[in-house]
Amino acid sequence: MAGLGAMQDWKMRITHVIDHAAREHATREIVTHWADGSETRTNWGEIHRDARRMAQALEALGIEPGDRVASMAMNHSRHLVSWFGVAGMGGVLHTVNPRLFEDQLEYIVNHAEDRVLFYDAAFQPIVDLMRDRWSTVEHYICYDPAPGSDLLAFEDWIGAQDGDYAWVDGEERDPCMLCYTSGTTGHPKGVLYEHRSTMFHAWSGLQPSAHDFDPSTVMLPVVPMFHAASWGLPYGGAMAGVKFVFSAVNEPQVLCDLMDREGVTTSAGVPTVWLAMFQHCDATGRDLPKLDSATIGGSAAPQFMIERLMKAGIKVQHAWGMTETSPIGTVGSPTADWARMSFEEKVAKSRMQGRPIFGIELRTVDLDDRTKELPRDGESSGALQVRGPWVIKRYFKAEEDAVDAEGWFDTGDVGILHPDGTLQLTDRTKDVIKSGGEWISSVELENAACGHPAVAEAAAIGVHHPQWDERPVLFVVRKEGQDVGAQEVVNFLSDKVAKWWLPDAVEFVDDIPHTATGKISKKDLRDRFADYRLAD
Ligand code: ADP
Repeated sequence: MAGLGAMQDWKMRITHVIDHAAREHATREIVTHWADGSETRTNWGEIHRDARRMAQALEALGIEPGDRVASMAMNHSRHLVSWFGVAGMGGVLHTVNPRLFEDQLEYIVNHAEDRVLFYDAAFQPIVDLMRDRWSTVEHYICYDPAPGSDLLAFEDWIGAQDGDYAWVDGEERDPCMLCYTSGTTGHPKGVLYEHRSTMFHAWSGLQPSAHDFDPSTVMLPVVPMFHAASWGLPYGGAMAGVKFVFSAVNEPQVLCDLMDREGVTTSAGVPTVWLAMFQHCDATGRDLPKLDSATIGGSAAPQFMIERLMKAGIKVQHAWGMTETSPIGTVGSPTADWARMSFEEKVAKSRMQGRPIFGIELRTVDLDDRTKELPRDGESSGALQVRGPWVIKRYFKAEEDAVDAEGWFDTGDVGILHPDGTLQLTDRTKDVIKSGGEWISSVELENAACGHPAVAEAAAIGVHHPQWDERPVLFVVRKEGQDVGAQEVVNFLSDKVAKWWLPDAVEFVDDIPHTATGKISKKDLRDRFADYRLAD
């Protein structure tokens, strides 16, 4: 038939991304602030050259397509080289989160069967501790050894190659990256990204309603390259010709200095990153850096954070996703009616998690009957399910699919879908509190409590109640030097949540347990207070 096959073959492989960046954006800078305080400047052209040298060096070690190669590193230009160098020779880069607990680190590297480990000198103690327990790692290569050290240095190792290399020409569905979820129960699970899924994800993320990247963008991604592919930013940035400013340390002063000095226009990170920046600016009296936009995700962006950023003229892009969704699922951005909205309405909208980027399908189903799909009416709250070309189908080495027959993946989140497409996340399925047959969002309670000036952190869990099944108890960490009582917290909440949501008790604690990725661990909190009883 005329027209069939009239267009060119073009495999969706990551190598196109770095080839394009080198061809079209060769001179655009990549700046790195290293752990020792030094700074280097390279560009997309040199990243391309080094990635080819790395691919050659890996082949010289006997690494073959499909083999897993690990990195345990912060954000910097050599880590970026590795993203493209490993994929370019057909390998799979396993980005290891150094904050995982020892048992998890042991499990994931052995499970992935990593053959080489690239790491930052800062993580040498972890390497020393784990070396004997990692049974498959044959080579250890350090990204930034101290001068005079006898460790094998990344720059010397790739420096022995000439860069005359043709990328391995594999299939679109070949894997290119492996990320493990931190796993609040059981072992971490591996999510294996493909060349094609990575490409789709990065491409879709380029749209103005997502990352809004173009060659004038200067991005400092705080979200680590070891967690959920740094939200795919390095790939999208290479496509669009973004100037990247990386920092191997996450101290707010360093980040603010870099942002001011390098003309950073946008940044991305979890809420605690922004919190640390606020604290630094308050303590030193400096202004927030003059960003155009800030992407916040990984956990819910609190209201006061959104307000402060918006008042500073920074567009807030509140995003939702998970390792299993590569990770971008939804991003918040202004709609046509934005200009007519009041400041309060804009804040209220930005507190929600935004709309799906093209390619992502969402639906909510009844929490008690997962076959019953709920209406997108802005009210019905249910289990959030997702599907799309960059959503997981099956965990690495798993026997069974992680999705139902129609491809829906159950996210473990609870949310409401609005008629305009906005996702409003209300909780995790395991954390919602069931009181008298109705659901209370633990997250809403926590976020509202965090708005109190004396509250540093808050976490709500359901505690058994003879009449209501469960009732909420709020655990609060006070800010240093501040005082606040239980009744004051309840009074503060009383005009922010429904009356029947108000916690039956507020308990003050010194700390709240966190997961390896810094999120509140409700499971540990529930375990810690397993014997807790409400007073009669
Ligand atoms: P890990 O548990 O390893 O940190 P992920 O980073 O994949 O795993 O975490 C994904 C989860 O983080 C989501 O399922 C959701 O519960 C939560 N999350 C992500 N973004 C947001 C957001 N904007 N608001 C609220 N929760 C979020």
